[in-house]
Amino acid sequence: MKEFGFELRVCAWAERNWPPSGDSKAVPLVARQLGTRRRRWDTIVVETSEPELARREPFGETRLGSDLLFLARHAPTSWAYYRECLPDPGYPWRYVREAIHEADERGFIRTRRDGNRIEIRRRYRYPPWVDRVVAIENKPDLDAAAARRLGEQLQHDVALGLADEVWLATERSDGDVEAALLEAIPVEVGILIVPEESWAFEPIWRPRSLDVAASGTRILERPDGSPGDASAARFEYADPEWKRRKRLEIAERAYERGWRAYVDTMRPDCRQFELNDPEGPFPWCAAKGRAQSAAECSGSCAAFEPEPPAWRGGGWPIEGGPGKAAKRLLERKRRRRRE
Ligand code: SF4
Repeated sequence: MKEFGFELRVCAWAERNWPPSGDSKAVPLVARQLGTRRRRWDTIVVETSEPELARREPFGETRLGSDLLFLARHAPTSWAYYRECLPDPGYPWRYVREAIHEADERGFIRTRRDGNRIEIRRRYRYPPWVDRVVAIENKPDLDAAAARRLGEQLQHDVALGLADEVWLATERSDGDVEAALLEAIPVEVGILIVPEESWAFEPIWRPRSLDVAASGTRILERPDGSPGDASAARFEYADPEWKRRKRLEIAERAYERGWRAYVDTMRPDCRQFELNDPEGPFPWCAAKGRAQSAAECSGSCAAFEPEPPAWRGGGWPIEGGPGKAAKRLLERKRRRRRE
């Protein structure tokens, strides 16, 4: 429960204060729970700029998946048969044809027929809108043993170098734990201290920039360090092209979802559901008298009470009651970030 609320606070803070150095004109787009099939980060900050965001806008509010990205990046400026102007996609051309129709519907390429041949041309150039991708791991309660375990995981992130920077966000501990923390966490990883009651977040250790354009290393297995373990580490390489694609896919998902998408998996239609704190806003459960987690705020919650239809007024179900209003408020805020 605590981790969920902590995560939302980190997201809200990053949205207003990123980068912590304060010396950049970067516009941060913040999202939660994104990454690759093997690794999901708690918070992602995509650094971009207002002009690049404006150039990304014609491609629509929803993300471009890998097949649409392929088209957005390679569609020609003048009419051409799609098989002759696009590079080999590495998968069957019929998937490319499906993506062409979708891209046409979304309005970023045009299509026409020349007999049996589909010709395409782009309407907009897909901009290089992602400047940097920053990954933040959130661990509110961190003792020295947990820091050691986490340190190993963060070592994998540093070796892969998919994000430009990796941070650990945690609460303030006493001096001894903080020293152990610094020792257990790789030096490349930044450490952000999150106070429980205030917004005075404090970066106590600056991260190193990772080389996202170089090959990365996936650590598959490593010796556990015990005297009896003579096994060798196993690893494989992640090539720069894979990293470039993954970063863009993560950024596209962040663009679509933002961090307020938490409401999609909760029950704002419960009469106990409230949004409080203008800083967030964050979810609040009136029945429990505290912030609730996304996992407990579901249809199986014992205290769930559907909104009375009278709350929903004449506009129901199109306009909806307070639950729908909460969703609309969060969606408006989410959209405003992209504009
Ligand atoms: S009572 Fe349960 S479902 Fe309703 S807002 Fe609280 S946690 Fe969510």
